[in-house]
Amino acid sequence: MSDWITTGPKTRQFEARLKERLEAPGLVAFNSCTAGLHVGLVVLGIGPGDEVIVPSLTFCATANVVEHVGARPVLVDVLPDTLTLDPQAVARAITPRTKAIMPVHYAGHPVQLDPLFHLAEQHHLHVVEDAAHALPARYKGRLVGSRKNLAAFSFYATKNLTTAEGGCLTGDEELLEKARIIGHHGMDKEAWKRFDRSGSWYYEVVLPGFKYNMTDIQASIGLRQMDRLDAFQARRRQVFDAYNARLGKLGALQIPVESPEVESSLHLYVLRLKPAQLRIDRNRFIDELKNRQIGTSVHYLPIHMQPFYRNKYGYRPEDCPVAADAFSRMLSLPLHPRLTDQDVDDVCVAVEDIVRLHQA
Ligand SMILES: *Cc1c(COP(=O)(O)O)cnc(C)c1O
Repeated sequence: MSDWITTGPKTRQFEARLKERLEAPGLVAFNSCTAGLHVGLVVLGIGPGDEVIVPSLTFCATANVVEHVGARPVLVDVLPDTLTLDPQAVARAITPRTKAIMPVHYAGHPVQLDPLFHLAEQHHLHVVEDAAHALPARYKGRLVGSRKNLAAFSFYATKNLTTAEGGCLTGDEELLEKARIIGHHGMDKEAWKRFDRSGSWYYEVVLPGFKYNMTDIQASIGLRQMDRLDAFQARRRQVFDAYNARLGKLGALQIPVESPEVESSLHLYVLRLKPAQLRIDRNRFIDELKNRQIGTSVHYLPIHMQPFYRNKYGYRPEDCPVAADAFSRMLSLPLHPRLTDQDVDDVCVAVEDIVRLHQA
């Protein structure tokens, strides 16, 4: 038991357990993944005049944080199979102003990290992974978040592990100690150690930081979630495989794939319709599912088609054709550990029924 409610012993405990679970060199908890990404860009010194390469098919936070530091998000396309960042598109987008690549492990499927790290090395770029979906995921046997470059995870309510709101940054320990200070008003408490005469009340503001710390209330939820993570993942795997087995038989649907070199965290189940084989579009398909009591979502309206980015940078849908096409025909089916076999069957029956009624 602890009476502490804001950042204290539970947060430290949660950080230590996550660090061990992710085999991370260093880890700092924040109050969101967005906060982690923002602090990550600040600690790397990315700012006005700089460009950061971001996949268009992602949640808005990935691009928004680049705007927050005054840099330009350069939106590039994704691969048609996994919908993760296309390394060739990244290579084409690199300019002398490029400072970082921000790949997103879309739906929990790790991006092709090797070619991205290769490009980063060639052009002296940072890699900041948006790993919001990727707890836990592996690329070529190695856990996402276990490398020295920065990676940000989310513990938002819908994510694989939740603290209601929360996130963390993994990476090089020294860099993360700076990140911790930036995420806590820029207050350096260790500074007192440099002055013998000062007491433990002493801190110095070394830069104007942010209020991004996690609370012990959130960390307590996270610690309990950690106990259950393996069971959550096992259930996600069962649901994912059951959907694939049933829906893979329907010619009008494109089911998600998992590359042999990765282990996905199976965060989302993203189905794509084959328009030539259906007389209804994606929106109607979603309505039909809703009529059958099945809730779905769309991940995501691509960033290059969002009004702010479209207007500011003049993007057209065809600038990222794979993302635009995927968006037009995608929907995410329910995927979470509390789904029962009956729920999974209900979803499959509804999808099968709609496809049968509206097949072209
Ligand atoms: C959820 C999410 C975020 C933001 O996470 P928060 O913890 O809500 O800040 C960032 N990127 C992606 C891809 C996400 O799905």
